[in-house]
Amino acid sequence: MGQSMNGAFRRALEDGDVSRLAELWRVCRPRLPQPRDDREARVMLHRARSEAESVTLAKRLYSHAWLAERGLPSGLPEELQPPAERRESVIVSAVGIASFGPVELRRDHRQYGNITNTPKPGWSFTDVVGFVSRRLAVPVGFDTDVNGSALGEGRWGAAMGLSQFVYITVGTGIGGGAVVDGAALHGLVHPEMGHLAIRRLDDDDFPGLCPFHGACMEGMASGPSLEARFGVPGRELYGTQLAVAMNIVTSYLAQGLTAVTRILAPQRIIVGGGVAKLPGFHEIRNEAVTSELANYPGLAEHREPGFVSPPDLGDRSGLAGGLVLAKQVSSGQVEAVDG
Ligand SMILES: [Zn+2]
Repeated sequence: MGQSMNGAFRRALEDGDVSRLAELWRVCRPRLPQPRDDREARVMLHRARSEAESVTLAKRLYSHAWLAERGLPSGLPEELQPPAERRESVIVSAVGIASFGPVELRRDHRQYGNITNTPKPGWSFTDVVGFVSRRLAVPVGFDTDVNGSALGEGRWGAAMGLSQFVYITVGTGIGGGAVVDGAALHGLVHPEMGHLAIRRLDDDDFPGLCPFHGACMEGMASGPSLEARFGVPGRELYGTQLAVAMNIVTSYLAQGLTAVTRILAPQRIIVGGGVAKLPGFHEIRNEAVTSELANYPGLAEHREPGFVSPPDLGDRSGLAGGLVLAKQVSSGQVEAVDG
């Protein structure tokens, strides 16, 4: 939200001009629920103002978020070193990590904060939280990359003002995080939405790439599956091949998003990741999801173009999520677990 919009909001609030507030809300937040009466308009305005302050805070934090923005090498755990030359000039009060998975999130588990059995070489059972909290002696917030992205989008992005939403990434793999009643969803293990079973399209004989399930959603619709089908990475596809590829990906993804919608009843699903950036993806995706939902249970919200959206924060959803996780532990909203 721009400075002038904030000014307009402030003036309308000072003047008590509720209809102007509602109008500003509609202009600035076309994808969010609209106020039904004066009281709701006032509530939404207050929320918008605190969000605007949050955005300012985020910008300030981004300007200092040099650890995350620097892009640390992470080929192997041993390479993970805070850059020493900046250590003196920055006071770190908390760290938030939105990590690739699988990770142990059960706070009473002795391996809490570990990457668990990942195929990524060298990383299985790496104690990420322990490593960072011992090095920096600060509280560490920890969650999956996709739960982090969901939290980031909820705080500053496409899910601002919502309490139930899902973030799905479609890239080298497919993963999903969910926020339910404002908190990231954890169970025995974090959700594994990428591995949902899906129905094979009639004329598709591609076996699928998932080492565990073959033709699960990730096996059929991830970036590597496109490369295996077409012989080139997704970003090199164009013309008819690109259109065919996007139809395949969005058809399978729509099945998965429909399953997620049936189970979690989210107010919005945000879809990011490399494949979701390919031309045509978000245009075709809407139609595929609407068709797969088959007007059941028939909510108007499901038919709105913004029900499934791209992320507002682009590639920074996870980084923003790290800030949310850091804030949660530094404010005591979530208790830190010692590494
Ligand atoms: Zn699978």
